[in-house]
Amino acid sequence: MKITFPHMGSLWIPLKGLFNDLGFEVVPPPPVTKRAITLGARHSPEFACLPFKINVGNFIESLEQGADTIVMGGGCGPCRFGYYAQVEKEILLDLGYNFEMIVIEPPQGNLIEWLGRLRLFGNNCHWREITAALLLAWHKIKVIDRLHRLLLWARPRGSAEKITNIYNEYLTKVDQAQNLKLLKKVDQDAQQALKKVVYNKHKQCLRIALVGEIFMLLEPFVNLNIEQVLGERGVEVERSIYLSDWIRDHILSDPRRIRARNRFKKAARPFLNHFIGGHGWESIGESVLYAERGFDGAIHILPFTCTPEIVAQSILPRISKCYDFPIVSFSLDEHSGLGGFITRLEAFLDLLSSKKIKHGTRWDKPCAVFSLDTLWYN
Ligand code: SF4
Repeated sequence: MKITFPHMGSLWIPLKGLFNDLGFEVVPPPPVTKRAITLGARHSPEFACLPFKINVGNFIESLEQGADTIVMGGGCGPCRFGYYAQVEKEILLDLGYNFEMIVIEPPQGNLIEWLGRLRLFGNNCHWREITAALLLAWHKIKVIDRLHRLLLWARPRGSAEKITNIYNEYLTKVDQAQNLKLLKKVDQDAQQALKKVVYNKHKQCLRIALVGEIFMLLEPFVNLNIEQVLGERGVEVERSIYLSDWIRDHILSDPRRIRARNRFKKAARPFLNHFIGGHGWESIGESVLYAERGFDGAIHILPFTCTPEIVAQSILPRISKCYDFPIVSFSLDEHSGLGGFITRLEAFLDLLSSKKIKHGTRWDKPCAVFSLDTLWYN
């Protein structure tokens, strides 16, 4: 069995380690590239959402590299994710690939029964080995998320390039960590290394929140590396979704996260009072919370044709008006180009800068020079 799975940000690191520890051969999904997007777009329905097309492109590349088993998430509910796996399987079979697809449905609140359904992945390992493999993968996810938060804080406060390189270097070390002790050491070293290159930790930066669909937020190639682009311009970014939080919410049902989820639901209530699929509800609630926390603005990233986020997009201007909180939406697909994206992004930063100047807030300007006649407001 040569296992592959979808590529989404750094998810491949814990999953590769987990399947390796359970004795499977793994073909890690190749990083998302223009080729994967083109392949996926060519073989997917035109109006399928971008993550679907990227999945298809990724799977084709992994199957070309010898994978024979695809592990894919399932789901249910108003958005299309629930039937991704079935449609992707049919497309790949039509293309002549010979493989097996294993769909992991969400636990729906019953973790024990869900773990029982996953016994196939136990690969005849002793339960102690399985627990150790799961624990290591879980801790890798937490370390990656912790380092990522630190990266976003550090990047505008030091040499962005150096900080990004250090982060990438330690991601490789997280991948190579074979046990919890080594992982802990990598975590501590990485934190120290990142903090060491911050030369102005008290710098007052523009603070921008990223909200939107999970795949678009977690996969830098498809969001046109927005976090890096902003960080290099001296902007502190906070991402509203992390993989560890998603696991706590949807798999572990962590009580602390239940409180956090109740907070965003309460914040969203005047604008949207129910689940609409994907992360549409979160996009609304989190935007309100960021406005209340005093962030300078929010960027909403959605895949073109994503129904839940289109609903959210239509509500966000009301939040923007109520809270005097600038929000811009970027709807991205396989045709999105960097040039127009950067221009709109810089115009948005320009708007936030002038708003700060108007209110006389003390802060350090972004490094880029923005022309003040290109204000743009969603
Ligand atoms: S949330 Fe949007 S992009 Fe994600 S699967 Fe659902 S419809 Fe597609």
